[in-house]
Amino acid sequence: MARQWRSWWMVAGLAWFAVTGAAADPSPLGEHVSISAPVPIRLLLSFDDGPSAREGDNPTVQILDGLARNAIQPGIKAVFFVQTGASNGGATALGRELMRRTLQEGHALGFHTATPGHTSHTRLNDEVLEGSLSQGLAAHVELAGRAPVLVRPPHWAYDARTFAAYQRHGLNLVMTDLSANDGKIPWPNASLRRRSHLEHQMRVLRRHVNDLPVVGGVRPVVVTFHDANPFTGSHINEYLQILVDGAHKAGLTLADPPFYDSAESVEAAAQARALTDPSVQVRIPGFWTSLLAWILPEPPLD
Ligand SMILES: [Zn+2]
Repeated sequence: MARQWRSWWMVAGLAWFAVTGAAADPSPLGEHVSISAPVPIRLLLSFDDGPSAREGDNPTVQILDGLARNAIQPGIKAVFFVQTGASNGGATALGRELMRRTLQEGHALGFHTATPGHTSHTRLNDEVLEGSLSQGLAAHVELAGRAPVLVRPPHWAYDARTFAAYQRHGLNLVMTDLSANDGKIPWPNASLRRRSHLEHQMRVLRRHVNDLPVVGGVRPVVVTFHDANPFTGSHINEYLQILVDGAHKAGLTLADPPFYDSAESVEAAAQARALTDPSVQVRIPGFWTSLLAWILPEPPLD
């Protein structure tokens, strides 16, 4: 008897949908979905410490090639925070050639350092910092025809003084949401844990993703790699897959396309994610934090 009653109610329900057109008319359903659907994230790739001046298998070249041609999204555009004065990179002829190529291929260049090494700006006195910023900005103008608008502080170290110096030069300070931690511990740690490490960070991001600003209908999520790292260079395609898989596993909704595809949009999104209050110390995800950068005076990469 109970089964008969259930069948009757099912028939009655189907008849109601047929009469009212509730199931056939997609508009009420569509409106409902658009209100409740989460704002998708778009992955904003950034690369620090390059360009590499390595002969042979050059990691900056491998990364440019990987972003241009890959199975997930050909033509990905990123921000490269370069070291224009690096004696083993940006200051060499190959380094300058690669920065020009990076621009020609539609990526954005940001400021990282202009010193021969990788010195924290917080350790430079006012005069030296000013000179270094001016020198680096001039190098960018020579390369790109205009000054950069983005800065990634070396060792993630900043304070009110260096923040003010950046602002005077029109530089927006961009930290990161996800970090591959491929700078300090390039191998074998990154090799063994790269997937679990980034997947963990995606799960952490999931908890506060709704706090991120919406830019052009998506929430930009900043991801940081180091293009001077040969391991990153030879694994860039795998890293792209790990990021997409990690977002799905964490329950994050990826935009279509999942990565940025123009210098203008990637730069605008990065500017929207820039730090506005230097008294806020942004925590860098993963093992390597700015605190450790303070303890260990001059690691080769950050
Ligand atoms: Zn760095």
